[in-house]
Amino acid sequence: MTEGFVLDATHGGVAVSSWVEGAPEKNVWTGVKVSGKPRAEIATWRCKRCGFLEQYAAHQTDRSQETKKQMQAVLLALLIVLIVLLVVGAVALLALAVSR
Ligand SMILES: [Zn+2]
Repeated sequence: MTEGFVLDATHGGVAVSSWVEGAPEKNVWTGVKVSGKPRAEIATWRCKRCGFLEQYAAHQTDRSQETKKQMQAVLLALLIVLIVLLVVGAVALLALAVSR
């Protein structure tokens, strides 16, 4: 058996709970330090007769795709902010030109 903890985090969405290897270490920014620690999604099995739950965290989760998606989301947000600033700037210039 290896020590770990169940991660409780979402970014306004839904996700499968994960088990993180190692003792939880506090982090000022995120609550608990998780970067670089091995993770595994938790699979839960339920007994049809009594409802007893049994959980396994058998397969380590590949985090490289998740990091790539987070970077893409940040870049998309920056692009949207840039487009909004350009539109606002163009409207402001047009308003200035019309008022003269
Ligand atoms: Zn049962």
